[in-house]
Amino acid sequence: MKKDKVNIVTLGCSKNLVDSEVILTQLKGNGINTDHESKKDDSNIIIVNTCGFIDNAKQESIDTILRYADAKADGQIDKLYVTGCLSQRYKDDLEKEIPQVDSFFGTMELPALLKKFKADYKHELVGERITTTSNHYAYMKISEGCDRPCSFCAIPLMRGKHVSRPMEELVQEAKNLARNGTKEILLIAQDSTFYGLDIYKKRNLAELLQRLSDVEGIDWLRLHYAFPTGFPLDVLDVMAERQNICNYLDIPLQHGSSKMLKLMKRGTTREKTESLIQTMRSKVPDIAIRTTLIAGHPGETEEDFNDMVDFVEKMRFDRLGIFTYSHEEDTHAHSMEDDVPDELKQERANHVMQVQEQISRELNEAKVGKTFKTLIDRKEGGQFIGRTEFDSPEVDNEVLIDATKHYLRIGDFAAIKVTDATEFDLYGEPV
Ligand code: SF4
Repeated sequence: MKKDKVNIVTLGCSKNLVDSEVILTQLKGNGINTDHESKKDDSNIIIVNTCGFIDNAKQESIDTILRYADAKADGQIDKLYVTGCLSQRYKDDLEKEIPQVDSFFGTMELPALLKKFKADYKHELVGERITTTSNHYAYMKISEGCDRPCSFCAIPLMRGKHVSRPMEELVQEAKNLARNGTKEILLIAQDSTFYGLDIYKKRNLAELLQRLSDVEGIDWLRLHYAFPTGFPLDVLDVMAERQNICNYLDIPLQHGSSKMLKLMKRGTTREKTESLIQTMRSKVPDIAIRTTLIAGHPGETEEDFNDMVDFVEKMRFDRLGIFTYSHEEDTHAHSMEDDVPDELKQERANHVMQVQEQISRELNEAKVGKTFKTLIDRKEGGQFIGRTEFDSPEVDNEVLIDATKHYLRIGDFAAIKVTDATEFDLYGEPV
């Protein structure tokens, strides 16, 4: 009798990746042969963990489901299950449109998914997560869902209300990760700065950072997905105080025009945002700030866009990404006219990235001659590739070291002196 083998395929963000890792851990914990993103064609059961964020992501999820639906129709696989944000949001439509899928599950329906494998949800495995990233770094989700009303965002529709994970559970998970060799933990959430307001009735991220920073073996703690409004400033004090908390902050700001921030229901203004950034830079002088912006939100005029460009030029963010607005049904903005043509949305996004490229090049060139503690992630094309504390995996700059001249161990830290720089990468040698 052919033994079942499961392959989990993950789309979307790091929060979805953590969900896939939890599914992997639970299935393996129930003795079911399971892999994640296996390249081998030896699995007869596929679980697609989808993303439903914006148009492109939704299309990628649908294409992936259809690919496996064809594989099932060709008899290459026996079962196809779909979970994640797209499934949560469009279950009824998807069930009608893609009947080859055996079952669709929402983002909170893991026990029901496990039932398909006659498996039970094992509470004893909470915090004992098998990670799929390089052994030396791992994501840790500190909360689920979001209570914010951002006009353009469908995430609360797919992830529900904000729910913080208990601090004890997170500390135990960090200890388990450290025991398994993790040196860097990336803290993720929909809104990490909301942490604690539900279960501890106060913003408690600073205390969580202190507790996690006390965990032995964790060299780097990295904070992602902060929110500007009501930002808990005590987080910056802990960041400045603790060596193993990266002087790094990912804080999506979305726009640089007060009029647009109001339309986007962000609860803040350009002035308040600038003063928050200045406070961050005064409390943590070498902090690297990553942000994300949206071009082409309904109501955005040329003047508003110029405000955004001026904001980017003035704030000189270390890392910046920009999306083009996606008209998502059931969001607040969907009731507005999507009045910025797609080409103009893209043109504006490209222009901002050109401005940022120059800023990033200047900031990187200023690092030439300096030495940075660098975590070596991998070896590729004759180079060792690593990151400084100012760079998050997969989204930020990398440090490239000539592997024909130097030997470094993957997963180790090395002191790297920067010898050259481009707009998005640094080149260096061990000292
Ligand atoms: S903070 Fe705003 S943009 Fe982020 S997940 Fe919540 S609603 Fe969406």
